[in-house]
Amino acid sequence: MDTTEFRRRGKEMVDLIADYLENIEQRTVYPDVEPGYLRSLIPEEAPEEPDTYEDVVKDIERVIMPGVTHWHSPYFYAYFPTANSFPAMLADMLSGAIGCIGFSWAASPACTELETVMMDWLGKMLKLPEDFIAGTHGQGGGVIQGTASEATLVALLAARCRAVRMILASDPQRPETGITSKLVAYSSDQAHCSVERAGMIAGVRMKKIPTEQSDKYAVQGETLRRMIQEDKAAGLIPFYVRTEHTHPLLRNAEKIWMHIDAAYAGSSFICPEFRPLLNGIEFADSFNFNAHKWLLVNFDCSTMWVKKRSDLIGAFEMDPLYLKHDHQESGRYFCTDNSLFRSLKMWFVFRIYGLKGLQDYIRKHVELAKEFESLVRADQRFEISADVVLGLVCFRLKGSNEVNETLLKRINNGRKIHLVPCLLSGQFVLRFALCARTTESRHIREAWQLITQLAEEVMQELPH
Ligand code: PLP
Repeated sequence: MDTTEFRRRGKEMVDLIADYLENIEQRTVYPDVEPGYLRSLIPEEAPEEPDTYEDVVKDIERVIMPGVTHWHSPYFYAYFPTANSFPAMLADMLSGAIGCIGFSWAASPACTELETVMMDWLGKMLKLPEDFIAGTHGQGGGVIQGTASEATLVALLAARCRAVRMILASDPQRPETGITSKLVAYSSDQAHCSVERAGMIAGVRMKKIPTEQSDKYAVQGETLRRMIQEDKAAGLIPFYVRTEHTHPLLRNAEKIWMHIDAAYAGSSFICPEFRPLLNGIEFADSFNFNAHKWLLVNFDCSTMWVKKRSDLIGAFEMDPLYLKHDHQESGRYFCTDNSLFRSLKMWFVFRIYGLKGLQDYIRKHVELAKEFESLVRADQRFEISADVVLGLVCFRLKGSNEVNETLLKRINNGRKIHLVPCLLSGQFVLRFALCARTTESRHIREAWQLITQLAEEVMQELPH
């Protein structure tokens, strides 16, 4: 493909994308295919002779679309949102064209510098404490990761490194393996499964902090304090807590690394009315959320800040000759994750929406969630299972888990809307997450009508 053809095909592709997104609600949100469907639709091997571009484009509808779950359909209410906006898509095109890898400042100065400055912009939108802002003299700052799971792991590895170094500083004779085998990390029993996996990868003990429904599943400081004391008494070394909530308990007196993971909720903190959810962030060592979930910056863009850049740089530092450059000592720009020019997406989105546009977007989703909550509350057959704070509504039919499981199966088999469940204190709960940028009130009402119609059928068939 030469430049002339690329110009033509590029314009066609933009049209194809615009048509796809403009008409997405006419597609079945959840695909009706069996595992392995795709293999039979394409050859076993890559073509020896080139295919034509037209052939490839034709195969998008024949091969790809039948197996696509349309995450950007206004009928998609599963998991959590994944961001999708035109400015971010355009920036991604440019990133692909520049195609640099920003593993050091010298590898592409604009790439590392824009990332640091965009993380400052976003940190300021969130009103993060000054400690997390790089500026021109700060010790902290932000770096983009691929996912929240990666950020949890990166923080855990940095915390492990810091803990080992601190102990060795006071007891240099102690063997390092004797330290790591005693390290213990903590996370809520409600935490995302990525936390357990991070513990496995880092080779450290990971303990779950029990939570209660009556405390809205938030980790209680007293429970954590007791666990830490018991573990210390048993000769273990508590060194890391990962939580969705901030903990004044850990005012760093314990020298435990506190990592706050607000993967979904984090985007909402740009609105002053939701910012109190982040109170206490000043006690944390690191903080992360997925701008690619709810802030209109397409995947991947998981934004992570640390109070001390040296904690990250120190933990992952490699110094081969080919990475050395003349400005190394400035240390202001750091990358723990090699990737394309992801900060371009942030730059485009922040400028084209403005803080106000982003706040409006978050507020609209929260309002739609409240609207859905009101519909659920107005129907005596249903109950709300957890406080509706942002854009997620957890609800269920009053009755058995079986009745709710059957209801969800019917909903998803119908393929008109798509939801996933969760388990809250042993109860099977349906999650209704506001996901698509284009969801409107009429979609919510339509979804509710469908849910109640199917509920009626299920309740007639099953004892509840
Ligand atoms: N942590 C929390 C609190 C989450 O809600 C999620 C996903 O929704 C994750 C981690 C995992 O995110 P990722 O897929 O970016 O690793």
